[in-house]
Amino acid sequence: MDLFSSDGSGTGGERHLAGIIASAMDAIISVDQKQRVVLFNEAAEKMFGYTATEALGRSLDCFIPDRFRHSHREHVRTFARTNFTVGRKGEGRNLVGLRSDGTEFPIEVSISQLELAGKKLFTAIVRDITERTLAMEALREANEFNHQILTSARDGIIVYDRHLRYRVWNPFMEELSGVPARAVIGKKPPDVFPFLREWGVYANLEKALEGETVAAHDYPCAPPISTRAGWLSGSYYPLRDASSQIAGVIEIIRDITDRKKAEEELRESKARLAEIADFAQTVIASSPIGIATYDGVSGQCVSANEAVAKIIGCTTEAILKQNFKELASWKVSPLLNDAQVALLNGDTLRNQAHILTSFGKDSWLEYVFVPFTVKLRPHLLLMMSDITEQKQLEEQFRQAQKMEAVGRFAGGMAHDFNNMLGVIIGYSQLLQDKLGPEDSGGKQLAEIKKAADRATALTRQLLAFSRKQVLYPAVLDPNAVVQDLEKMLGRMIGEDIELVIRLGAGVGSILADPSQLEQVLMNLAVNARDAMPKGGHFIIETANVDIDEMSALGHQPMVTGPCVMLAVSDNGCGMDAHTQEHIFEPFFTTKDPGKGTGLGLSMVYGVVKQSGGYIWVYSELGRGTTFKIYLPRVNQAAAVDAPREAPPADTLASGTILLVEDEEPMRRLASSLLAQAGYTVIEAECGVDGLALAHRHSGAIDLLLTDVVMPRMSGKEMADRLLTLRPGMNVLYMSGYTDDLPAKHGILGPGMRLLQKPFTRESLVGTVREILSQNSIENGAMGT
Ligand code: ADP
Ligand code: MG
Repeated sequence: MDLFSSDGSGTGGERHLAGIIASAMDAIISVDQKQRVVLFNEAAEKMFGYTATEALGRSLDCFIPDRFRHSHREHVRTFARTNFTVGRKGEGRNLVGLRSDGTEFPIEVSISQLELAGKKLFTAIVRDITERTLAMEALREANEFNHQILTSARDGIIVYDRHLRYRVWNPFMEELSGVPARAVIGKKPPDVFPFLREWGVYANLEKALEGETVAAHDYPCAPPISTRAGWLSGSYYPLRDASSQIAGVIEIIRDITDRKKAEEELRESKARLAEIADFAQTVIASSPIGIATYDGVSGQCVSANEAVAKIIGCTTEAILKQNFKELASWKVSPLLNDAQVALLNGDTLRNQAHILTSFGKDSWLEYVFVPFTVKLRPHLLLMMSDITEQKQLEEQFRQAQKMEAVGRFAGGMAHDFNNMLGVIIGYSQLLQDKLGPEDSGGKQLAEIKKAADRATALTRQLLAFSRKQVLYPAVLDPNAVVQDLEKMLGRMIGEDIELVIRLGAGVGSILADPSQLEQVLMNLAVNARDAMPKGGHFIIETANVDIDEMSALGHQPMVTGPCVMLAVSDNGCGMDAHTQEHIFEPFFTTKDPGKGTGLGLSMVYGVVKQSGGYIWVYSELGRGTTFKIYLPRVNQAAAVDAPREAPPADTLASGTILLVEDEEPMRRLASSLLAQAGYTVIEAECGVDGLALAHRHSGAIDLLLTDVVMPRMSGKEMADRLLTLRPGMNVLYMSGYTDDLPAKHGILGPGMRLLQKPFTRESLVGTVREILSQNSIENGAMGT
């Protein structure tokens, strides 16, 4: 430092200058005209890494990177030529310093020229601007970064200044609104988007300006105010400066159209689901099928509808408290076992069961267990219906079929016995006549006849049961029938039992065989008497009832429509269910041998059935019994009984009878009885022979007496043919069995006469006499 020495030599002004140079923050380097360093201050030492001693005398080139040396010299030359006193300044990349260690650094230089002691000196004041450059670079980068954020954001970003003028309007906002940033920046929202007031945006902006945060305000939008229809959500925050003062507002606009759409769809699908669930709930609630669900692990009931409660006989609340393991407490019920099997196999299981629930309901169930899984947990669906009624109907039908079969069997037996009994009875009578009452053989014959008569009564009952007996139905007034019978019934049941008769007012007529109906009532009375050995009440009631289809369904097979009910009750010993099941079967009796035949109710049953009616029994052990008989009502008044004219007896009859019967003993018997009575008998053993005989016979034939079923030609066919030949002839059929008759259900058509087998002499001769005498009266009346 020879020029401005700081060692204290020189003038005060020079010393002052030297001090400034030495303490300057910038490097100060002076060179002479040959560019050799003549001054190099301390700051220069630090900046360039040379001591002043090292630097002095060096070329300025030492401090300039190679690539700039040439242009630097040019600058200096131009500078020297133009003789500027104040240097030009440059900065940035253009001016670069070179340190002693070869590193480069950005500098700012001001150069000045001065003459000192005749020498031209250039002085450069050099400032290291490394830090400033870096800071500038960082700022630039930060700006760039911010810009990128605004550009990349897929949310609209709007920034307002303190006066709510637009300052930022990012590209997404441009895209969303179709309005470019330049159209809004510097303006206020009302100037650009007047509708925003209605949306409430201004209010939100003002709130934010006061320091409040407004989050997620949703707006629906559509063109032209936005490029698409949809939903926007705006949030508003106060923008604060470094000193936390509110400098404006930040608005973030988000397109929430998709979210809204998804929300809407979710809401709709939820509503739809709720609707479906609601519907299913209603269906289940109103279903007549019992529907319950159980947790498969705990066994707890999860849901149950009304029908379950009805079927099981309790409230739904009670079922909901139940665990299906409690089904085990339902007596004789395989339900629990079935539930477990269904769960184990994971398969549907159907069954029927007779149950007695813990709520006391006794019924037949048809049920299905269906295992299913909810959220990985096994469950069990139980569906059930009460089939008690159906089971009862099945049982009744089975019972009716059984009775039918037994009836066929009994009827067949009775039919065959009848013919044989007829012969036994007839010949016994004939023999008795021969021997006379005092003969000892005659007494034995009387016993044979008595036994045969009892057997006849038995077969009659069997026939009645099998509904194969011949009925003589008449239109009857049931009240009159009961009244006529009152005395006899009273005698029959004895004094200990009180007979109560309750006749319904205006009870209609019925079509029935009066003697059979009397028999029915008598049989019932006898049974009632037997059921009340210590006395009691025996009640007979009559009433009109209309049985509709519904109540008929409960008690099938049953008649429907207008009926007359005959109810017969006692308060005797009653019957248990097992006895009730069998009472109508022939030979079923609970009475001691010799006391009961077991045919009373069978007869009742058969007669009622054959008359188109229905009988129903109600009984409880120890409580008594009621039989209810329903017979169809007819629209006809009952005829008042005209006393029958007794035919003149004991006078010897006359007339010719054609007797046709294929069974020889029967034919011979009938022939003998009729001959004995005074008739002329022509015999034939079949219809064909009978026709031939009638052809040949020149005299009159007053009566044709014929069996119904015969080989080759039936009695009816023969009679029809003969009647064309001899129109005035009388016809009397003999039969014991309705199946033989050309009549439906054993009910004879008008003008047909029938003699029931087995017949006694009295019934045969009496019937024949009756027909012929009536005929002669009619003929006489017509003839004279
Ligand atoms: P029987 O009277 O000869 O035994 P029924 O056919 O008349 O035969 O009756 C059959 C059975 O029905 C009787 O043995 C009895 O057990 C029962 N029964 C009939 N009527 C009554 C009644 N009124 N009370 C109690 N049990 C009865
Ligand atoms: Mg009886």
